[in-house]
Amino acid sequence: MRRRIRIFLGVIVPVILVSVLPGLEGAQGGDQFLDGIGETALVARYVFNGNTEDSSRNHFHAALRGSGGAFVEDARFGRALELSGTGAYVQLPGNALTGEDTISITGWLYLPTGASGPIFDLGQGPSTRLFATVAAAGFRTAVVSGEARGETEAAAVPMNQWIHLAVVLDPAHRLLTAYLDGARVGRAANVAVTAEQLVNQTSADANHLYIGRSQNADDATLQGRVRDVRVYRVALTDAQVAAIHKGASGRQAGRGRGPAPAPAISTAAIPKESPLASRLDRVPDIQAETTVGNLPRLPREIPAVYRNGATGPKVRVIWPAPKDNSQVTKPGTYIVTGNVPGTRFQPKATVTVKPAVKTAAVRTRTVEPFALGRVVLNQDTKGRDTQFIKNRDKFVRALAGTNPDNFLYNFRDAFGQPQPQGAQQLGGWDNQTTRLRGHASGHYLSAIAQAYASTTYDEPLRASFLQKMNYLIDTLYDLSQKSGKPAKEGGPFNADPTKVPPGPGRTAYDSNLRAEAIRTDYWNWGRGFISAYPPDQFIMLEQGATYGTQDTQIWAPYYTLHKILAGLLDCYEVGGNRKALEIAQCMGAWAHARLTALPAQTRIAMWSRYIAGEYGGMNEVMARLSRLTGDRQFLECAKLFDNINFFYGNAGHDHGLARNVDTIRGKHANQHIPQITGSLETFRNTGELPYYLIADNFWDMATNDYMYSIGGVAGARNPNNAECFTAEPDSLWENGFADGGQNETCATYNLLKLDRQLFMFDQTAKYMDHYELGLYNHILASVAEDDPGNTYHVPLNPGAQKHFGNADMSGFSCCNGTALESNTKLQDSIYFRGADDKTLYVNLFVPSTLNWTERKVVVRQRTDFPYADTTRLVLEGGGAFDIKIRVPRWAAKGFFVRINGREQPVKAAPGSYLTLRRTWRTNDTIELRMPFHFYLVPVVDQPNVASLFYGPVLLAAEESGPRGDWRQVTLDAGDIGKSISGDPATLRFTVDGVPFKPFFETYGRYSVYQHVTLK
Ligand SMILES: [Zn+2]
Repeated sequence: MRRRIRIFLGVIVPVILVSVLPGLEGAQGGDQFLDGIGETALVARYVFNGNTEDSSRNHFHAALRGSGGAFVEDARFGRALELSGTGAYVQLPGNALTGEDTISITGWLYLPTGASGPIFDLGQGPSTRLFATVAAAGFRTAVVSGEARGETEAAAVPMNQWIHLAVVLDPAHRLLTAYLDGARVGRAANVAVTAEQLVNQTSADANHLYIGRSQNADDATLQGRVRDVRVYRVALTDAQVAAIHKGASGRQAGRGRGPAPAPAISTAAIPKESPLASRLDRVPDIQAETTVGNLPRLPREIPAVYRNGATGPKVRVIWPAPKDNSQVTKPGTYIVTGNVPGTRFQPKATVTVKPAVKTAAVRTRTVEPFALGRVVLNQDTKGRDTQFIKNRDKFVRALAGTNPDNFLYNFRDAFGQPQPQGAQQLGGWDNQTTRLRGHASGHYLSAIAQAYASTTYDEPLRASFLQKMNYLIDTLYDLSQKSGKPAKEGGPFNADPTKVPPGPGRTAYDSNLRAEAIRTDYWNWGRGFISAYPPDQFIMLEQGATYGTQDTQIWAPYYTLHKILAGLLDCYEVGGNRKALEIAQCMGAWAHARLTALPAQTRIAMWSRYIAGEYGGMNEVMARLSRLTGDRQFLECAKLFDNINFFYGNAGHDHGLARNVDTIRGKHANQHIPQITGSLETFRNTGELPYYLIADNFWDMATNDYMYSIGGVAGARNPNNAECFTAEPDSLWENGFADGGQNETCATYNLLKLDRQLFMFDQTAKYMDHYELGLYNHILASVAEDDPGNTYHVPLNPGAQKHFGNADMSGFSCCNGTALESNTKLQDSIYFRGADDKTLYVNLFVPSTLNWTERKVVVRQRTDFPYADTTRLVLEGGGAFDIKIRVPRWAAKGFFVRINGREQPVKAAPGSYLTLRRTWRTNDTIELRMPFHFYLVPVVDQPNVASLFYGPVLLAAEESGPRGDWRQVTLDAGDIGKSISGDPATLRFTVDGVPFKPFFETYGRYSVYQHVTLK
């Protein structure tokens, strides 16, 4: 073993040194903004500096096949792959292009005089492929799928020098474009082939993705050198291709955020003026108050005066969002000017700044959830499985069929233990060399615990989950007990988490997890250590390591650890396994020991570091561990995760979220949302008010200023990374609608978690309004029709489609992980109870049975909602308590209550709770009716682009193919419902001749937003 490691170091290290050259500089800083393009656009990247590994985070490692291929010294790049023309080629994994709509390929090529042959060829065979060749006439590219095809004219290429080639297949605009050295050299129009048609979407083996080889087996292979081949899932623009070319040729650093690319979908047809502009007479100025240090929370919507005495809706105002709190440092008044998008109106707000008041924390958690097993999902009144039951069952059945040893594989591997028969390593972000491995196992622990707790309706199934959970925990417990103790009696060991040495025979820490190189000296790792890789990444983060795929780089060690610890605590708290708590305590103490030894500045720098410092909800899990054990060291540890710049603006705690200053802009969404739930959990345990304000202010900003209509966030075009919040608030149109994905599903999972937790402190309906929005229109909409495949990003550009991955639960992204959790707890927010058991909250209208054991009351909710606008609650048992029912924000046409058949005189404002107070008896029946209506939810900074809703349900237009423009619909200005026909019982509608259906029932192409004209 040791000898192999030495050989490895001797060969690979010089290669890495040689390869620190232009073109790889981006990778040095992480590929997240390589040449100005966010990594969410990158499918794979083959640098070819000594191996055929994919250096993108997707790890689509390629293979060098045939004979005559070698890595050679190169004057320009230091090292490159040389293909001899006598049979050598590179093969990419067959699933690398699955689910993609669009493909761009770029790369460097060196052709000797007279060279000809295939450059790349991606497809299933000679009649289904995208390829490029070089011949005497030059370089050309073509795409073919059956009868449909497109081809560019040949462009002459220079020989005996490095050239940069790019090919862009853009089905939305039906274009195939070829580039040479950053400039366009060929274009075919009216190309009717989509990227989706090129590869078999279900069988990876059917796909042949080659570099240097043709689909025609008889064709010669390529002769020449290749370097830095990249595959993108977006249609690169001329400027982006030029930037990639320049990134290496101009010897400039390829990192950094470039300018925002132009929108991928044409906006030419869409007017800038709001439909309200001609109807408005005046938008009055307003008054607002705040206290010293805190930015005011100005109303997003204010009542307006319409012309000719007409009535109309409140108007949305965009107020300036300062980057600090310098306007409110002392008492006084000041004026800010807002604007009503798409109009000339600029209302003013006069803000009075009052002296700061010392307030004690007044918030306490007065509402609690019901244990998962106390709420069981039911069929609807017609005996049909609801979408909730369908999705639950897809996941529960698949989870029941999983082998826990697959989820333990990387843990056993890290500890050098043998694998039991049948154990298979996971793929995706859990493969051998992925520096995030183990994250899926954490989600899996949570899911198994939740499935165990939830399946009270099926005892044998429940027992199988208990068995799985106990087996997982027993194994992890045994491994964690090995850490920091001698492997054999009298052997060497290090018990101290702060004194973990580099791996045997090494002088520094590294993140090399290759099977032949991974360190397994668990006796040196400090007491209590548990993870699916050795401790190096935690230590490297402290030492400044950045995110990337080199051995000197890391992914996100504390993110992975958060999933594992949350899984362990779920096994304890939800599943009742005490050993799980013990493992978490030991590892919690390990993390505390390391972090408490660091200077504050080091931690601040760590948590601000893109992705590398992503820690999920470590603060949450540590605060939770403290609450469960009463051990204060864990609460102290939770606070060590405070993301100071994000929470407080700077080390002096001058502003930030705690002061209502927007520090969200441009940040990676799912890196930061769990930090907020952690802040709230820290508040729950400490009562220190800033932690509450951070969560409260964040929620307000995220859901008002950064949210898409499905309830999710991010999707930034500026910064050019679909996983980031837009660069400025209220600017989705200007800075959002990224190409290649918008709303990451795990980010919405985390927002919903925040909704729930805030609701338990503050029973304002807005939290559960958002919960309903995100639950129906993103979480429920993120699962495949017939299996538990699920979405990573949900794209929201016109003509998009969802890509459902990981149906066989063998290769997980972050979102595939949270999907396991979401779908094993779909019932968790229908009902809540007052902590004193004097109140029952009914939040969601989902057929279900609640067993409120504290009061010996059973509530059965029977409904076809949302295929009907009514629901009925029947009680068993009784007593004096309040039932608080959420009146949804969209229920503008009234909310009607009958008890035992008698109409109740209730005041029910949309977006509030109504209280029914009486002494309840068995068979008491509450009937609710909340008439649905059609309404539009426009993009804040482009009021002519909107989503159509019916009640809580987002309706998406059905599309037959990708689109290069926004679908246009014309609706009646007085009552949009007049322009819509269809059947509310099936939620199938026709709008201006276009079929619409619920987004959560959409599995084909769709448009979630339309260009709406009101007439
Ligand atoms: Zn995700």
